[in-house]
Amino acid sequence: MIYLDNASTTKINEEALKVFNEYSMEYYFNPSSPHKAGFKNSLKLCNMRDKAKELLGIKQQDNLYFCSGATEANNAILRSNFREGARFVVSAGEHPSVLNVCKDLQNKGIEVIYVGLNKDGTVNIDELIKIVSENQVDFVSIMNVSNETGAVNDIQKIVKICKTANSKCLIHSDGVQAVGKIPVNIQALGVDYYTLSGHKFCGPKGVGAFFVGKNAPFKPLLLGGGQEMGNRSGTENLPGIASMVKALEIAVYNQKENYNKVKEIKDFVIEYFSRDKGILFNTTSNHSPYVLSMSVVGLKGEVLVHFLEQHDILIGTGSACSSKKAGNNSLQAMGLKRDEVLGSLRLSFSYNNTMDEIEKACDKLEDIIIKQRELQ
Ligand code: PMP
Repeated sequence: MIYLDNASTTKINEEALKVFNEYSMEYYFNPSSPHKAGFKNSLKLCNMRDKAKELLGIKQQDNLYFCSGATEANNAILRSNFREGARFVVSAGEHPSVLNVCKDLQNKGIEVIYVGLNKDGTVNIDELIKIVSENQVDFVSIMNVSNETGAVNDIQKIVKICKTANSKCLIHSDGVQAVGKIPVNIQALGVDYYTLSGHKFCGPKGVGAFFVGKNAPFKPLLLGGGQEMGNRSGTENLPGIASMVKALEIAVYNQKENYNKVKEIKDFVIEYFSRDKGILFNTTSNHSPYVLSMSVVGLKGEVLVHFLEQHDILIGTGSACSSKKAGNNSLQAMGLKRDEVLGSLRLSFSYNNTMDEIEKACDKLEDIIIKQRELQ
């Protein structure tokens, strides 16, 4: 199988899987238990948190909490900032775990202003400046890297703009497609909140983490046994956390090497299909190399995905999370025409992909496109 849908999820790293198994079979004790085995696990959990903080550039006095993944983290952070009359700014290309919470909170009395995207998928900075200077904005959520296009937002600059307009404005960035793939130093970004998810960087599924700055408010989504310093109740998923932190360590240590390998892959695909004038690229080589969005104008992305699947090649259309609905928030916000959105494909890569696989996938996709065009 040739797997080119790594932005939706990745195969777990073997070392990370080994750690998951160890913590499931040998160190399976509850860190809250009163016995020695439980206590030892609570110390191990402390070490994992410290390690993750170090890898993500988080100061010791700031907080990192473990949870079930980025959907939960995004929900918890946005809901923590709910106050009737509060004004939120989010980009039009955010993940549904941000956009749908905004819709819900809008019904409960917040105002949401959507900032548009440029043609390249990044947030329109001029529009953001206008919004924050004309309105008192309380909370901003802008993703670090787009899951649909790989566009990289300048979060540091965005934080500066928002904090200059209102020093009390709190800023969240969804870092799911950034962590382990591009350099991420949360302290340097200057955000108040940041979310990540293990299964996007070859860790296990169902585990993630979120950063909360020392002075940022946080209200837990779940109440119960008071785990995670009272911020995320529920018995800690120690196998998941241990395995995710191992995967994070591997991804961060190999970040540069993997980036260069994946960039070579993306550049190859762009070059391969740029000879076809009926194909538009919704990403450039300045984007994260891990995601390539392209539109085969006049054909349906979904149909192409299914034909490729018959040859054991897996790719995506837009974002997997929203593909069952109209989806493609970013592509629409970038101003793509309807047939360009319908014809969109998302190829997302991993350092596990080989050049041989990529060449095979490109040849097959080209064959399918030619055949489908002939049938029209
Ligand atoms: N944000 C982004 C940008 C994502 O790509 C995803 C996963 N598709 C999520 C949030 C949700 O993450 P999780 O699967 O951990 O809930």
